[in-house]
Amino acid sequence: VDFFHAIPKIELHAHINGSISTGTMKKLLDRKEKKILEHCKTTFEEAERGTLDDCFKIFSVIHQISDSTEAAYTITTDVIREFAEDNVKYLELRSTPRDIAKTGMTKQSYIEAVLKAIEDCKSQDLDIVVKFILAIDRRNGVEVAKETLDLAEKYRNISSDTVVGLDLSGDPYAGDARDYIPVFRDAKRRGLKLALHLAEVPNKEETMALLKVLPDRIGHGTCLHQEAGGSLELVEFVAKHRIPLELCLTSNVKGRTVSDFDNHQFKLWYDLGHPCIICTDDKGVFSTSLSQEYSIAANTFGLSNEAVLDMACNSIEHIFAEDNLKATLRDSFQEQRHLLL
Ligand code: IMP
Repeated sequence: VDFFHAIPKIELHAHINGSISTGTMKKLLDRKEKKILEHCKTTFEEAERGTLDDCFKIFSVIHQISDSTEAAYTITTDVIREFAEDNVKYLELRSTPRDIAKTGMTKQSYIEAVLKAIEDCKSQDLDIVVKFILAIDRRNGVEVAKETLDLAEKYRNISSDTVVGLDLSGDPYAGDARDYIPVFRDAKRRGLKLALHLAEVPNKEETMALLKVLPDRIGHGTCLHQEAGGSLELVEFVAKHRIPLELCLTSNVKGRTVSDFDNHQFKLWYDLGHPCIICTDDKGVFSTSLSQEYSIAANTFGLSNEAVLDMACNSIEHIFAEDNLKATLRDSFQEQRHLLL
């Protein structure tokens, strides 16, 4: 585990409210008005498994706890510090803007709280670069998605490139993601990047339609291949366009979209030489860390230390950031590589 901790890492798929550590959760629950939620489930224990439905029930509890700009600021600050402590050198956080009338939180004030936490972390000695992706929840409809796109563009322009793109997430059984395609095409025209949850559950038609938008990265891609309810055509399309996959092993096994680590789609794509980025998804909900995810991938699939370091380094190519930052990260990762081998 020490080796996996010591590797400089890139985290590209982390939902803010899924990443709350037990320490932060305790802080949030200590507030008087939240005591009532103290015994609700907010995480899967070590060996515990559930279903996707259980995950979304957990998120609805977490959202009741994380319902103010103060909470958003605290959560984001702690999440950044925890990733930095895990030797993550570049982090893309994603989150769904929410309005909560009761606390006066608006989508704008939520985004501003996250951006302030990111900004304030720069003045601490953390050695991590953080970007922000606004998430579109597929349960919320196209009008909300359009609004999220406008907010992403607005804050991209005023936050000196901290806001880099859009995500599509939420319950994969809800709605039809094809409805959002015009919004994604518009986002691309406006120069925003797209990281879309795709084929988390089998849905060939929806998946192919979204792939044709050519997203910059795919979240999960669990059911792209035929054996998982996808098709050869889907695999060939993703492989041909080399669309990188954000792969979250523990999340998929605990949420039971994959039966066990041995059968995770990582193997298929890694063996194809396809760009695979190991990510946590929701380190709080699934009780994991990025080091642990690297260790699981290495142990399950027999990856050498060199192969693991290569994987961490290759992830740099798929970050939503400017070329000079990629070059800086490449140099510092290479330096670390020599020390670690
Ligand atoms: P938030 O956007 O920061 O509030 O993070 C929680 C939200 O992320 C959830 O309500 C979902 O919309 C989304 N999310 C987290 N994990 C998953 C996943 O595995 N699949 C789909 N959506 C997810």
